[in-house]
Amino acid sequence: MKTRLRFLVALALICLFLLNLPQPLAAQSWSLQDTIVITDVNIVDVRTGEIRRDQVVIIERNRIVAVGPRKETRYPRNAPTILNGKGAFLIPGLWDMHVHLVFGDWFPLAQEISLPLFVANGITGVRDMGSELETVLSWRNEIEGGRLLGPRIMAAGPMLDGPKPRFPSSIAIATPEDGRRAVDTLKHAGADFIKLQSLIPRDAVFAIADEARKQGIPFEGHVPDSVRASEMSDAGMHSFEHLIGIFEGSSPLEDEFLKGQKNETKFLATYDPERASALATLLAKNQTWQCPTLVWERGGNLIDITDFSKDARAKYVPTYWKEHTWKIFTEAVKTEFNTDDLETRKKFVDKELEVVQLLHKAGVPFLAGTDSPTGVYIFPGFSLHEELQRFAAAGFTPLEALQTATLNPARLFNMEDQFGAIEKGKFADLVFLDANPLEDIRNTQKVSAVILNGKYLSNADLQKILQRVEVSAKKEAPPPRTGSIF
Ligand SMILES: [Zn+2]
Repeated sequence: MKTRLRFLVALALICLFLLNLPQPLAAQSWSLQDTIVITDVNIVDVRTGEIRRDQVVIIERNRIVAVGPRKETRYPRNAPTILNGKGAFLIPGLWDMHVHLVFGDWFPLAQEISLPLFVANGITGVRDMGSELETVLSWRNEIEGGRLLGPRIMAAGPMLDGPKPRFPSSIAIATPEDGRRAVDTLKHAGADFIKLQSLIPRDAVFAIADEARKQGIPFEGHVPDSVRASEMSDAGMHSFEHLIGIFEGSSPLEDEFLKGQKNETKFLATYDPERASALATLLAKNQTWQCPTLVWERGGNLIDITDFSKDARAKYVPTYWKEHTWKIFTEAVKTEFNTDDLETRKKFVDKELEVVQLLHKAGVPFLAGTDSPTGVYIFPGFSLHEELQRFAAAGFTPLEALQTATLNPARLFNMEDQFGAIEKGKFADLVFLDANPLEDIRNTQKVSAVILNGKYLSNADLQKILQRVEVSAKKEAPPPRTGSIF
């Protein structure tokens, strides 16, 4: 009995001793309480496409502090959270590079719907392409402080548009002076970049480009209607959305299109492969990012033959989105079809994939973005996974598709040292998958757990988040402040 007691005391002392040992893996602020260890996991290397088996990942607070093979990587056996990752595939947190978190008051309850839906789907970062800046920055603060569940946010604030913007969260630009003032104001208000819309007058577009360059803030978004894609690329526009300007620039009718007489029938009829190649070469030379929002391109073009009513994900969004905003958008999109018949639109959707492949082969870099929730029935979180599948349909390998939502976003923001891959020193934004995404890109949908900024969310946690969203979606939305949309 006595020997046994002495043995137990000795054991306890050894444990205490081990607890206090300086850990070679740790930074000086090491605290066991903040440590998560993942063992035996398959790491998907998004740089090389290699699957690294039996790996250990050590996380302290919100950073990855070590990654390595199980046999060579020491870790504190008494860490409060040790996750056995056997059978799981670990990918970096995904980014949706085209979202609108706050779109005036057109998508009420967004804080309770969009933010958690992103997280539950493994989206740990978003690029907000047009929102109320103050609200979004306050959400970002809350998220960083751990008081609100949501992804990392990079934000444009309100969008710069023509003298009569069609959308909320916009700034009207009529003159070059308006453009310069808007850039200056947004830069000082804390916007990460400037978002351009379609209707900005030509002279103001170039003033915006010039001012943004002077102020050292990137400008991104729609190639404005009155400007060529090649001109915007040469002016330093950082990313193009929705392939706007690409078909225009691939046609001998480009000048006519600049005056506003464009449609998909004309794009297809006058598409010139040589012009397309020349534009691709220029975009590759300038490394002009493309965020083609392919799911919404298909969804919008085929909106008249799509029945959304049976979509199982509809329960996660408020009735107001479905019965009001998305309905009005649907009517607007149908009106814009104009002279393009269904057959043409189907061909156009296929042609877009072909053009994406052409640009990709030429070395133009790509981003995965969804336009959620401003695209009709484009769901926060869920739809990003479909976007990756559209890239695969355009001929990207599963690895290349995965890069559009991991490594490439980090490169776009010039933050490759912070996120985008599973590497020492980076943010602990990680997604556990039940199957290998490099065998089939659809496997990114098999999310079993998420680590968001160092916080572990188990499968049960993710289910609870989804249930809460479902409850929130049933809440009555506050009545809109603004009137009709168009
Ligand atoms: Zn958008």
